[in-house]
Formats: sequence, structure tokens, C-alpha cells
Amino acid sequence: MSTPARPANRHHKRQRGEGQWALGYREPLNATEENKKNDDGLNVRQRIIDVYAKQGFDSIDPSDLRGRFRWYGLYTQRKPGIDGGKTAVLEPEELEDRYFMMRVRTDGGQLSLEQLRVIADISNEHARGTADVTDRQNIQLHWVDIESVPDIWARLEAVGLSTTEACGDTPRGMLGCPLAGIDADEVIDGRAQLREIRERYIGNPEFSNLPRKYKTAISGCAAHCTVHEINDISFVGVVDERGEAGFDLWVGGGLSTNPMFAKRLGVFVRPEQVPEVWAGVTGVFRDYGYRRLRSRARLKFLVNDWGPEKFREVLQTEYLKYDLPDGPAPAAPRGERRDHVGVHPQRDGNFYVGFAPRVGRLSGDLLHRIADAAERHGSGRVATTIEQKMVILDVAPDRVESIVAELEAVDLRVTPSTFRRQTMACTGIEFCKLAIVETKDAASALIDELERRLPDFTEPLTININGCPNSCARIQTADIGLKGQLVVNDKGEQVGGYQIHLGGSFGVESSFGRKVRGLKTTTEELPDYVERVVRNFAKQRDEGESFSE
Ligand code: SF4
Repeated sequence: MSTPARPANRHHKRQRGEGQWALGYREPLNATEENKKNDDGLNVRQRIIDVYAKQGFDSIDPSDLRGRFRWYGLYTQRKPGIDGGKTAVLEPEELEDRYFMMRVRTDGGQLSLEQLRVIADISNEHARGTADVTDRQNIQLHWVDIESVPDIWARLEAVGLSTTEACGDTPRGMLGCPLAGIDADEVIDGRAQLREIRERYIGNPEFSNLPRKYKTAISGCAAHCTVHEINDISFVGVVDERGEAGFDLWVGGGLSTNPMFAKRLGVFVRPEQVPEVWAGVTGVFRDYGYRRLRSRARLKFLVNDWGPEKFREVLQTEYLKYDLPDGPAPAAPRGERRDHVGVHPQRDGNFYVGFAPRVGRLSGDLLHRIADAAERHGSGRVATTIEQKMVILDVAPDRVESIVAELEAVDLRVTPSTFRRQTMACTGIEFCKLAIVETKDAASALIDELERRLPDFTEPLTININGCPNSCARIQTADIGLKGQLVVNDKGEQVGGYQIHLGGSFGVESSFGRKVRGLKTTTEELPDYVERVVRNFAKQRDEGESFSE
């Protein structure tokens, strides 16, 4: 007997929109959207200068404090001493301190020595000496009070830096290869495109209210160092069949709790078209992006629903008003590591020197030492990488040995162990209000232990540590990804620890790490756990096999 067809539901509701402006869903759809509608995040700058910095922390309107301040790279940091078990149960105001994390954007990561010294001075005078290099090439300061903000901005802006749209639902700091313009294998130099987008569109109300954060990468790096696979929009250097260098366009990558790799649209973008194509894709996101639920608002959800063909069609017909030609995919990345650590030749006969601070942790004093060392050795510029590392550029061949010695003497390793080189950690409970566990100190202790226990291990191996289920340190794409959570130790107590993900990777066949069901470790047992995994890998691997294989 066949199953009777279900009668049509006469009360079937019209399908609810997802808040796409282009389809007319303009009403406020959640508290953040309402806050953005009430006042553009960019407008908070003048209130900070005129009111809040003069009248102090208590004068700050909560909708600015917990909303629009992000449009200028400002988050309240976590009050010290609140353990991770309270993160989910306390109200935001109970978790937050009266001090701020401030994110300084450095699009493309390149800094002059003057810029580096200004950040170092601000760190020492206004941020208790803190300065972390993030995995998006920014520099983060902590302990900033509201009274200092106008002075910090004035000093940053005097040397061409800013915190504008460093956080918030905006085009945040854009990634670029730290070796742009100097690497011998570079496919194309993307600096001019980054500069033009920054000048035309950053701080521009046209794109200051996006559905969610929006991450850009533009690079012709042969090592694919800007991880185009997980940005919202990436331009990747390619050469077309006529030998013309341009860019391959990828959209819709992102990690967090619903990780997705970006998709190629299959188009060839000429260098001079990049800013308008960037604006077109950003416009699609602004107008068609989902604004009903914050958890479904990143561009990746729209790309996933539409598919690359429809996305390309809408981009071309509604935004660009012309068709882009088909183009080639990028060549496979050079080498197994994307970090630019070590001493390597530039195409002009000089060398670049990449070094590894511990999990991105620097200080105002160290930034000064880096600037001084670079200057003494004839270099005028440095760069941050997306692996929480730094590079000094333009070192003459006869000065390499000396600058390496100078950096190593202050624990900035130019020839680090695999563990120092490839371990990353997010901010964690020290400053982050969403954190459940500590990360930076745990990662640093892990590096020390692994260097002591496994001194001969030299294979590439990434270990990424997050303080919560978000993925600021990209745990899903690490060989060993550690997601901070509370776990139960062998005495039955709840303590800080990590859920293990294994086998994530970038490359020709990118893959997300697999969550190993039931496999968790306490922070205390972390070195033992990682040591076991690494020893097993070293024992079982075939010649040339990477960890993710
Ligand atoms: Fe904070 Fe979580 Fe991001 Fe770490 S991963 S910085 S704990 S939000």
C-alpha cells in the first residue's frame, strides 16, 4: 500500500527571510543589527574623543562600549581572576574590566621602523608593555584605558597606522605576503591593491555595516602564506595562458564553529580590477548576507547556499555590470611551511630574516630592540606574518650573521625548533571574555617541554591552541588542534583542558582536523599527550608523509 500524499498545509507560513537587505528584509533582526541601524559604528570615534576620553569609563554608553567600540579595534578585556567556568554564566558587564584590548591594523603586515617604534612607545606608555602579533598580522595591545585613546590614535595616525575597522562587522585588517615585492618566486605583488582598497573603502560608510566580520587576503606569495582557503575573500596570484599575471578569486572561507573552505569563482581578475571586484563581492555580502542570526551571518553561509556559479553570476550582473574571464587555479604552494621563518635570499641579492617570538608574544621593549637591530644592520622595514611571526627585510649578505645573533640573544629564534616555529595560541583567558582556558602560557610551557623531550624532531607539525570553541588560532587546520574547554581530571575535578582535533591541513588537498571523540586532555597532561602523538607519528610515518596524511 502506498503512503498517501500529505495534504498541503493550508497554514504554511511564508518562508522567513534571513535578513537580506537586497530582498527587502530591512527591519532590525537581532540586537546587534538594531544597534548598527541606530548609529553607524564609525560615528563612535568622535564621541570617544569628545566625551568618553574626557569623562572616563563610566560615561560610556553600553551600546557603544559593547558594540561600536569594535569599529575602532577596542574590546573591553576580561577582568583578572575570573575562572573559565564562569564565562558562560556571567553577564558581559560582570566579565569585563575597565581596560581595553586595542588592535592596530597593519594591512599586509609591512611596517617601517618609525611605525614599529611608535607602536613600541605606545605599548610602554599606555599598554603596560604588552604587544602581541596576531595570526592576522595585527598587533594587539592590552591594558589601554579610555583616557589614552585619543593620544594613541594621534600617534598612530601620524605615521600612517590606525585602528579603524580592526574589529566589528567590517572589512577587518587585510592579509598580504610579508615578502611582497622581494621574494624571488612571487607570482605577483599585491601591495598596490591592498593600499588602494584601504584608501578607498576602509572607514567608508559604504561598507561599515556588513552582516558580520569580513576577512580579506591579497597575495601572490608562492608559499600561499595568507591562507586564502579560510578568508571571506581572497585574491591569489596566478598567471593566465597568455602569460599575464593577475588574481584568482576565492570567496566564503571561514573557521569558527562551522568551518568551511573558500570556493573558487573560476575568474581571472586583472591587477587594476581588484579594488572594484573587492567592492563588488563586499557589496554582495552587505546586501544578500544573512542578518537574522549572528551564527549564520558570515559570507560562507551565503556562498554555501548559492554555490560559486550563482555567486559569480550575481557579482557580474548586479555589481560589476561586466563579465570576468575564466582563469586558472593557483599553482601548488611552495614547500611545506608557509611561515617565512629563517634566512632566505631576496631577488635583489639581500636577505630576509624571519624569526619566531613565542606564540606571538612580544613587548614594547622587544619591538624597540627589533627596530634597533634592523636599523643597525641597514634594514628600514619589518613585517608581521600570519603565523604570529616577524620578518626583517632587506639585510645585506654580510650583515646576516650578526643580525641573527642579535635576535637569538633576546630569544627571537631565527632557527627555531618545529615546536617553537609552528605552535600558535590565541589570546585566551588572560584577556579574552569568551575564553574558558589559558592558552599563551600553556603553549609556551608546551614548547619548552617538547623541545626538551624531542630534541631531534624536525618535521613540519602545526599545533594550534584556542581558549574556547571559536577558532581565532585556526585549530581546525592544524595537525594538532586544541580547543579549550573544562575537562574532568583523574581526581574527578573540573579543570582547564582541551578537546583534541587531529589531521587538519592546508594545501592542494586542504582538510579540517577530525575531532577525536572523547579525546581530551587537561592542561597539565598536555605535554605528555602531544609527546605521545608525535612519537607515534615519527615511528609510523612513511618517507615524505605529512602528519595529516
Ligand atoms: Fe578568545 Fe576564544 Fe578567540 Fe581564544 S579562540 S581569543 S578564547 S574568542
